[in-house]
Amino acid sequence: MSAKTELNKVAKDLVVSMEYELTVDGEVLDSTDAGDPIDFIQGYENIIAGLEKAVEGMAIGESKEVFVKAADAYGEYDADGFVEVPKAEFPEDIPMEVGVEISVTNDDGEEMTAFIEEVSVESITLNFNHPLAGKDLTFKVKIVAIREATAEELEHGHVHFDDCECGDDCECEDGGCNCGK
Ligand code: ZN
Repeated sequence: MSAKTELNKVAKDLVVSMEYELTVDGEVLDSTDAGDPIDFIQGYENIIAGLEKAVEGMAIGESKEVFVKAADAYGEYDADGFVEVPKAEFPEDIPMEVGVEISVTNDDGEEMTAFIEEVSVESITLNFNHPLAGKDLTFKVKIVAIREATAEELEHGHVHFDDCECGDDCECEDGGCNCGK
């Protein structure tokens, strides 16, 4: 197999451009705009595990409908995943509004994402469930382009765009890169 052939199919370490439409409970929740696909590096958990597994081996131009069970998407819903925090201990720079996403470091030093569930007089309730926890997801995906990742992209574990000025203090989010933007 020539290198050219290998670049025609989604495989680990390759940068994949993909259009998608996400349907949950029969409702379209999210989609890429025509001609504006997302970019991710295959094999680096830039996208949810179940989707990454399903697109492996897909060819450029190929479309597919992918069903991802909650466990392989944003996890099962955890009824115990709520924590009440006194307002006095809440960081001042974060707006105390329902739905706001925050990063919390737990006792093991692990970074976790939580959403503000409720704001009361004295306290704030954090919900550690992702908004799509417990939901099965249906994706319509189309592979638009595939290219080799640069050494720096592989090192950072995410895609860099033309206007990205990532250094060692790269602060990229969501599997994409927000540096220099
Ligand atoms: Zn980076």
